[in-house]
Amino acid sequence: MIPVSTFQGKRVGLFGLGGSGLTTAHALLEGGAEVIADDDNPDRRESAKQAGVPVGALRDTDWSALAALVLAPGVPLTHPEPHWSVRLAQANGVETIGDIELFCRERAARCPDSTLIAITGTNGKSTTTALIGHVLGTADRDPQVGGNIGRAVLDLAPPAPGSTYVIECSSYQIDLAPGLNPSIGLLLNITPDHLDRHGTMENYAAIKERLVAASDMAVVGVDDGHCASVADRLERRGHKVVRISAEMPLSKGVQFDPPHLSELTDGARTIVADLSDVGSLRGRHNGQNAAAAFVACRAAGLSVAQIVAGLKSFPGLAHRMEEIGKIRHVLFVNDSKATNAEAAERALLSFDRIYWLAGGRMKDGGITTLVPYAERIAGAYLFGEAKETFRKTLDGYCPTAVFDGMDAALAAAHADASGDPAREAVVLLSPACASFDQFTSFEARGDAFRKAFAELAESQSNGSGPL
Ligand code: ADP
Repeated sequence: MIPVSTFQGKRVGLFGLGGSGLTTAHALLEGGAEVIADDDNPDRRESAKQAGVPVGALRDTDWSALAALVLAPGVPLTHPEPHWSVRLAQANGVETIGDIELFCRERAARCPDSTLIAITGTNGKSTTTALIGHVLGTADRDPQVGGNIGRAVLDLAPPAPGSTYVIECSSYQIDLAPGLNPSIGLLLNITPDHLDRHGTMENYAAIKERLVAASDMAVVGVDDGHCASVADRLERRGHKVVRISAEMPLSKGVQFDPPHLSELTDGARTIVADLSDVGSLRGRHNGQNAAAAFVACRAAGLSVAQIVAGLKSFPGLAHRMEEIGKIRHVLFVNDSKATNAEAAERALLSFDRIYWLAGGRMKDGGITTLVPYAERIAGAYLFGEAKETFRKTLDGYCPTAVFDGMDAALAAAHADASGDPAREAVVLLSPACASFDQFTSFEARGDAFRKAFAELAESQSNGSGPL
C-alpha cells in the first residue's frame, strides 16, 4: 500500500467504490486525509462501510471544503455526460483526479527518480505490461506491476530509490491523471474503441497521446495513422521517440519481422531475438508487444541477453491466446478474452489449421469480417446465442456445426481435430462474443474451457495433459 501523504489533513471526496476505489480510500486514510466516499450502488456503499471506509452523501456535502474529487475510472468524466459528482466538483472549482494521479504525486514527492514505465494503447496493454513485468522480474529487478491490470496502483509498494513501476493505463485513467509523467511512456496503437466514453476519435487519441507526450522517452507503435502522427509530432518538438513496428520496415527503432525482432540504427539491421519458439507471443500483434517491451526494458537498463531470456520464458496471460495443453498433436488454446471479431481475427491469423470454438452474446457486426480466414478454419463449432447467426455467416466457406454449450462444442472439435493429419491442429476458443449469455465473465468461460480440456486429457490415456 502506498499511503497518499499529499492530501494529509485535507478533506477528499471519493466516488466509485469498486476494487480500486476501496484501495484508494485506504491509501488516502493511511496518509492522513479525511475521506468522504460514495457510490450510486447501495451494496457497494455497504461493503465499503464494512471495510472501514467512511461513507457519506457527497451530494449533500460542503464542496467548498473539498481539496479534490477522486473518481474511479469506470465513472463517466465527460461522455456520455459527466457524472453528477463531476458536475458538482466543476461547479465548485474542485479538481477531479484518479488513483494514478495520486500515485504520480506521491512518486514526485517521495522519489521522482524511481523508474515509471507506463503503457497505453487500444489493444495489447495487459500483455505488454505483463511482459515487461516478467522480463524485469527474470532480471531480478523486482518490478511493481499494476494499474489497469491486476493490482490497483496504490496497492503497490511505496516509491523508493531503485523502484521500478510498470503501470497499465486505460484512457479513462489517463484522463484522470494530468500529472502522469512516465520515465518511459509506451503507446502501442490507436483504433476506434470506447468512443461512447470519449466522444470522438480525436478526443480518444488525444488522451492517449498525453501519456507519451509527458514522458522522458516515448515508445510509439507506428503501424496506425494516429500513432504515426503522434511520433512525428513529438519528434518535431524535440521529444525522445523510439518507433516500433510489426508491419513495416523502419530506418530507426525496433521492428518485428516474423519471427525476428530487430534493432535498426540508421538503416542497419541487427537481429536481437527469434520469437518462433515462444508460444505465448504468437502473431504479429504480439510482435508489436514484444518490440515495445524490448525497447522499454533496454531503456530501463537491461542487456539484450537478459531481455531475450525474459521474452523466451514469458508464460503469457490467462485467457489471451493461452496454450492450455496438448492431446497428442492437438493443441488447445484459450483466447476467451477475444470478445469481439477484431480480437478473434488476431487469433485466427496466428494458426494454420483451426478447429474454432466461437459464440456467446453477439456484438454489433457479428463475424462477417472473419470470413476471409475461412480457409484456415477446418471446422467452426458454434454455441450460445450467436450460433445460428454465425452459422449463416460461415455457411459455404467452412464446415460448421452448432451446439448448445461450449463443452459439447469442445468435445466435437477435439474428435475431428484428432483425426486431422496436419502436424499441429489447434482447438481454439476465440469466441468473438461476450460471455454473458452462458457465463458470468470471459474469465469464467476460459476456466470452463480449461476444465473441459483437463477432463478430456484425463480420459485420453496418452494425452500429455496440461502444459
Ligand atoms: P488490452 O489490455 O489492451 O485489452 P490484452 O493484452 O489484454 O489487451 O489483449 C486483448 C486482445 O487484444 C488479445 O486477445 C489479442 O487478440 C489482441 N491484442 C493483443 N495485443 C495486440 C496488439 N498489439 N495489437 C492488436 N491487438 C492485440
